[in-house]
Amino acid sequence: MTKPQAEYQDTPNGIYSCGLCTLFVAPDGCKVVDGAISKDGWCKAFAAVD
Ligand code: SF4
Repeated sequence: MTKPQAEYQDTPNGIYSCGLCTLFVAPDGCKVVDGAISKDGWCKAFAAVD
């Protein structure tokens, strides 16, 4: 999906950020959001590591 669809932001949401998300693909990708993202960003599809 696109960043707007995911409501992606370049900043963390509290303690949650892309670097902690199971969908993050190092160094700057995401399995579900198109384009380059930041490990310090966040979106509504965030999925935490158990
Ligand atoms: S799903 Fe969202 S929070 Fe998780 S890595 Fe992708 S853009 Fe970041």
